[in-house]
Amino acid sequence: MTLLNPRPLSDYQAMDAAHHWHPFTDTADLNRTGTRIIDRAEGVWIEELGGKRLLDGMAGLWCMNLGYGRDRIVDAVSRQMKELPYYNAFFQCAHPPVVEFAAALAEKAPAHMNRVFFTNSGSESNDTVFRLARVYWDSLGKPSKKVFIGRHNGYHGSTVAAASLGGMGGMHAQSGLPIEGVVHIDQPYWYGEGLATGMTPEEFGLERARQLEAKIDEIGEENVCAFIAEPIQGAGGVIIPPESYWPEIARICREREILLIADEVICGFGRTGKWWGSETYGIEPDLMPIAKGITGGYLPMGGVFISDRVAGPVMEKAGEFYHGYTWSGHPAACAAGLEVLKIMDEEQVVERAGAVLAPKLAETWAALADHPLVGEARTKGVLGALELAADKETGARFEGAGAGTLARDFCVSDAGLVMRAVGDTMIVSPPLSITEAEIEELGVRARKALDLTADALVRAGHKVA
Ligand SMILES: *Cc1c(COP(=O)(O)O)cnc(C)c1O
Repeated sequence: MTLLNPRPLSDYQAMDAAHHWHPFTDTADLNRTGTRIIDRAEGVWIEELGGKRLLDGMAGLWCMNLGYGRDRIVDAVSRQMKELPYYNAFFQCAHPPVVEFAAALAEKAPAHMNRVFFTNSGSESNDTVFRLARVYWDSLGKPSKKVFIGRHNGYHGSTVAAASLGGMGGMHAQSGLPIEGVVHIDQPYWYGEGLATGMTPEEFGLERARQLEAKIDEIGEENVCAFIAEPIQGAGGVIIPPESYWPEIARICREREILLIADEVICGFGRTGKWWGSETYGIEPDLMPIAKGITGGYLPMGGVFISDRVAGPVMEKAGEFYHGYTWSGHPAACAAGLEVLKIMDEEQVVERAGAVLAPKLAETWAALADHPLVGEARTKGVLGALELAADKETGARFEGAGAGTLARDFCVSDAGLVMRAVGDTMIVSPPLSITEAEIEELGVRARKALDLTADALVRAGHKVA
């Protein structure tokens, strides 16, 4: 096999350091250690330049749901690009793949959602809902309803509106966000914020949900546009809400006149074991931003599912929706998405995620709970998190030890595993094409990294239970 890019690693690192500014990265720090160059991948395995293989426990960035090396998707894109590489959907036009893909997605969407607006990313999807939700209330003659309620430690993307809807403190601090008209309530993070309260998880879930009601009262229902949340917070640390949380949020949204926006960018396309996280939690959102798994990660794309309830008044009253992207519904991305949906049907990807992978990951994770570093091991669908704690009972952390970063680095350097750290929470979200044997392997590798982390913490003078 011929290498596409035959330069030595040190060349790539030097060029990268000189010219490439990385997303979400301390560039000076990275340039001191040197970038890792990934140059090929197959199935759930990625390979660094030089041949080192790692099990990709994060499906790229939560997107490679069907794994790497799917020639069928590549061929479908290639065929489409030869036939029609681009045309826009702005001026009374469409092209076959965008129409086919919209119809195919509507078939998979919850029954009350029949339309999709295409974007190129999750961030753009959330910018779209920001504007569309306000247009909806305008079209109903309620222009005062402008305020969005999001959640601290929620993630909705990196554009100005999406970062504002999200609740990432570091992002807000860096550039004076959130913008006007966005407020936040607390997250339903039981292990991180509930354990110390003495409440049960169910009581805690209700308390956090009822903050929405209190916030609506504080702002005035006539001023509130929508509540936005991820069914399960991904980037925040795979935060799986207590079972009491979503039913209570759904009740509040039903009783109050506000839109419910479920950000399905991670949870959608089978991640929670059903097609949509909303389905897993039994909620009926008014708008659903999607992205990541939509093309199985093979091309950039995103979208927003629009419920009939929202679409109706906007179409009847608002006239033109002054919003769109040059690449909304790009033919190549639509071709990739259509092929992904075909594969998902043929391989019963969602059904298998729920019936086979979810219980296997739950079992593998439960076995890690007895590790001395693990305070909590939780899963839902094909998402998992491990809370590293110095005290299993109280959840107290290893203060100032950077335990999560240590564990993440041991994963890569010694265990051959990509597992991400969010503070001291280790998270996984492997491709939905992973086999049961590979999930076992993920567990073995995670344990190896935990053992090495425990040794390192002891050497640094910390007490490990
Ligand atoms: C990743 C993510 C986004 C942003 O998507 P991009 O494609 O990176 O812009 C939005 N919402 C959620 C829940 C995400 O995980």
